[in-house]
Amino acid sequence: MTVNLLDLDQPKLAAFFAELGEKPFRAKQLMRWMHHFGVIDFGQMTDVAKTLREKLAQVAVIQPPQVKLEQISEDGTRKWLIDVGAGNGVETVFIPEADRGTLCVSSQVGCALECTFCSTGRQGFNRNLSVSEIIGQLWLANKALGRDPRDQTEEGRERIISNVVMMGMGEPLANFDNVVTALNIMLDDSAYGLSRRRVTVSTSGLVPAIDRLRDECPVALAVSLHAPNDALRDVIVPINKKYPLAELMAACRRYLVKAPRDFVTFEYVMLDGVNDTVEHAKQLLELVRDVPCKFNLIPFNPFPSSGYATSKSENIRRFRDILMQAGYVVTTRKTRGEDIDAACGQLAGKVKDKTRRQAKYMMELAA
Ligand code: SAH
Ligand code: SF4
Repeated sequence: MTVNLLDLDQPKLAAFFAELGEKPFRAKQLMRWMHHFGVIDFGQMTDVAKTLREKLAQVAVIQPPQVKLEQISEDGTRKWLIDVGAGNGVETVFIPEADRGTLCVSSQVGCALECTFCSTGRQGFNRNLSVSEIIGQLWLANKALGRDPRDQTEEGRERIISNVVMMGMGEPLANFDNVVTALNIMLDDSAYGLSRRRVTVSTSGLVPAIDRLRDECPVALAVSLHAPNDALRDVIVPINKKYPLAELMAACRRYLVKAPRDFVTFEYVMLDGVNDTVEHAKQLLELVRDVPCKFNLIPFNPFPSSGYATSKSENIRRFRDILMQAGYVVTTRKTRGEDIDAACGQLAGKVKDKTRRQAKYMMELAA
């Protein structure tokens, strides 16, 4: 069977070369060609012996996913719709800022969890992305942004992806093995060489997988909290029924023992009248008392028939001020790329739902 070398991190690639009777250093060479220089044609790999290049061409391919559509927002945000076969598509977003370039990466086609305010969640679930489809998003974005590591001009540097957030479509920790292999490639100096502190996994709170991530590949952790008590979180982030807040807070504390940063980021989507009152802010302070953290307030991004509205800006400010007065760092996420539906929670891609969830919502809407 032909292997796609984009599915392998360096240790797996070294094992692949060992099977071919080749030296392990070949893995490093290949990683550099594929990820550093974006070369996918074996013929161009000039420091690899010709006989080996020919052998590789027989047993392997280097196959990034295809871009179906690219959109560029007025604010410079870019979004790619990536073809992942069988009529499915996922989205990747690049957000340029003065001091960094952040790529928001998807991990699944849809999502099996059913957070009520999330358009990906509403669409249902089709399948996990493969490693090559996850790391391929970085590969493609670098290509599209014209990244050339030798380009040290201001513009060249600006375009470089310095940060990755696993905050696109899907729950990254529900696709654990593929996500961790892709993270390894992001961190590998022969590939993208990103710092652990600049790679963030965002999770809705899969407690056992948070522990595994800490042991296998600790990167920055963001947790989608969205509610300060179990009664409310059970409704808007239903996975809470399985892993309630006390267990989630304990997992965050355990994570910090090995994390590259000394805080967890709590994401909190601001839903008008649902989770944004003074009382909610006070409960939140109580909840996180023993967890070193920062807060990221996300104004809810509406999508058709979501049933929610964005909190009023004075209520977001009030909420933020309560947290700040208690000594916390709080950022309110700016909405980027709104004109191309690239904001948080708006990534829709193309999901052929296998869970019948779309049908369920349609029936509810019609009733
Ligand atoms: N599944 C992971 C990561 C993807 S979602 C998670 O839930 O953490 C990335 C962030 O966007 C999460 O905090 C998610 O709750 C939030 N989000 C989802 N829908 C949103 C919406 N409509 N408006 C604003 N934020 C949203
Ligand atoms: Fe899935 Fe995250 Fe959306 Fe929840 S918020 S449905 S976990 S993608």
